[in-house]
Amino acid sequence: MKRIIYIPFDHLHRNFGALKGANPKEDVIALVESARMTTGRNWHKERLFFLISSARHFAKSLEDEGFTVEYVKAATTIDGLNKITEKHKNLLITCAEPSSFRQFEALKNHGVSFVENDFFLTPRPLFSAWASDQKSYLMESFYRAQRIRLGILVEGNKPTGGAWNFDKENRLPPPKKYDGPPYLENKRDVIDVEVAEELGHTPTTTWATTRKGALAQLKNFIDNHFAEFGPLEDAMTTDNWALHHSLLSPYLNNGLLHPSEVIDAALKAFKTGDIPIESAEGFIRQVIGWREYVNGMYWFLGPTYRENNQLNANRNLLPLFTDPNKTQMNCIKETVTDIDNRAWVHHIPRLMLLSNLALATGTNPQQFLDWMREVFIDATEWVMVPNVIGMGVHADGGKMMTKPYAAGGAYISRMSNYCKPCVYNPKLRVGETACPFTTLYWDFLDRHKETFVKNHRMSQQVFGLNRLSDLPELKLRAQEVLSGLEEGTI
Ligand code: SF4
Repeated sequence: MKRIIYIPFDHLHRNFGALKGANPKEDVIALVESARMTTGRNWHKERLFFLISSARHFAKSLEDEGFTVEYVKAATTIDGLNKITEKHKNLLITCAEPSSFRQFEALKNHGVSFVENDFFLTPRPLFSAWASDQKSYLMESFYRAQRIRLGILVEGNKPTGGAWNFDKENRLPPPKKYDGPPYLENKRDVIDVEVAEELGHTPTTTWATTRKGALAQLKNFIDNHFAEFGPLEDAMTTDNWALHHSLLSPYLNNGLLHPSEVIDAALKAFKTGDIPIESAEGFIRQVIGWREYVNGMYWFLGPTYRENNQLNANRNLLPLFTDPNKTQMNCIKETVTDIDNRAWVHHIPRLMLLSNLALATGTNPQQFLDWMREVFIDATEWVMVPNVIGMGVHADGGKMMTKPYAAGGAYISRMSNYCKPCVYNPKLRVGETACPFTTLYWDFLDRHKETFVKNHRMSQQVFGLNRLSDLPELKLRAQEVLSGLEEGTI
């Protein structure tokens, strides 16, 4: 044997990373299930089940191919690698560049050599070169350059369909009593059952834990959901937990699918003429635009970026985030219950409900970030740090987003069916039945008016405060709401 190839649990692809060109006669494969990863934090068990079972299935597929596979449990990754090198003496360890600063440092200090991380479409140096050239790091500029660079949905340098994005068409509220085609159910096998028993968890049938299952999910999305994805992508409804979202992010983020495979399938379907441009563009933007941008920004902004707290938000994490019975806000109760059930909700509840609430209540960004990391099935460090610190709670002073994503109950009422049965009224900002989002939206603007009045994208909203004759009453109600949220009674 000539070398040890270490496979982190988010590099599970045979054709990318350090496994590209690997040879069963020469390479020992190392996977480490570290206690730090499994018990180090309050991880959602569905998430642990998915990550561990996927890794064990992947290890098995490599064994079936003839590789010597060492899958060990240890206190830390480094302890695990030490165990493996005791057995396979004098072999150097190689790995694709890891996906977080912490793991990069740990492996580098251990003497691991790296090959390029090609689990993305944009090499880190290329992104860094783009970002270093920008005055502000607008995702839209990156995305357009990315379309041209990759030759996707462009004719020459012009966008297919005559526009770079079709967001205006993609903001439909949910139709009444919306069913939609069913989602795939995954049968559990011996490995799944073993992992589930070790975790003391009854997994859902939602998430595949094999490459075959991930490919089936991709096909299901393309065949049954892709065409309708766009117009309803921002809608939220209790009638249908996923609408037409792809549910592919867990597989993209642990390596079972590569973004190039997803894009190839999407473009092939678009070429048949059956997929409207607003759905094709909206989905492709998530994969070649947003996902690549967020990963690029994580590496570009550096390891200290996650500590930003430029709005001085110091409230402890509210109890409703960990217990949906600690709130009467129907939108939050439904969303947190959904997360408890399957470790997933789509991007709008994440941004416009959970993050919006953390932003408006002045919740400490790092506590909120830790919670988001722990509960979502697809929450890798590189995804969550920029998404939460930059986009979700605007803790970076506007480095990533030019304005905070703050909204009152009117937006949620328009885009969901949560408000009708709620005890609160999205139209009211004062009084006992006022929607907490509406009250807190104005309170947030008032608390930070000096910061945001200088921002040309926010100044109109800040001036709106002048029209509120009931501002003193609203400020008092906001204090009641904040205390009630802390006590779990609002
Ligand atoms: Fe949420 Fe407010 Fe609507 Fe209730 S009224 S569901 S709290 S947005």
